[in-house]
Amino acid sequence: MTSNSVYESWTLPAIREELKKRNANVFEFYDTIYACGTTEPEFKMDVPCQNKYKDAHVGMTGNFPQFTMKRLTEYLSLYCRDFDPKCKDMYEERYLRCYRVCTNPENGLTFILSIVWAEMKKSVTYKVDLSLYENGVVQEVHCKCGARQVPSALCKHFVTVLYASFRVFQAGIVLSELSCTQVLQTFHKANSHKGSPLKAHHLQTICEKI
Ligand SMILES: [Zn+2]
Repeated sequence: MTSNSVYESWTLPAIREELKKRNANVFEFYDTIYACGTTEPEFKMDVPCQNKYKDAHVGMTGNFPQFTMKRLTEYLSLYCRDFDPKCKDMYEERYLRCYRVCTNPENGLTFILSIVWAEMKKSVTYKVDLSLYENGVVQEVHCKCGARQVPSALCKHFVTVLYASFRVFQAGIVLSELSCTQVLQTFHKANSHKGSPLKAHHLQTICEKI
């Protein structure tokens, strides 16, 4: 790659010195050119207001886009990719923190908002936005992770949400993270004994020692 910049060969101290001489701030300069639109803006998707979304439920299946597994693989094939079974595992292991749906009757689009745990770090989550046409064709997608800043890139979070959309279309249910009220309390259950079993006459010996 060639560059015409005359400053290309400058060292960092020389650039610092020149900025000082000109009383310039490199961040202000960057902000100015960004505001003028001379740099590529971050890929952004227009989505409905968050309060218009509802959690996916069985009653939704009638209106949900016909997002079949065929639609999913068709979309991935646009980027020469096959479906990664790891994304199915991530879905079944409840990597989705939430899966919310908003249908716009005016343009027939269905928007999906999901929060997905990062595959490796369980302390990091990414927001995934997806819009589908009624026939299940993907209109637009966006994931907050670095990979999806480029519209043509694919990441596991997004593919996991696509797979979840197939499951919603199929059964109207989605496997998301369990909240504390969804897990049965267990404090009344006795802990299982993990020690070695003792013979009864040894118990007698222990009692005598006490
Ligand atoms: Zn992602």
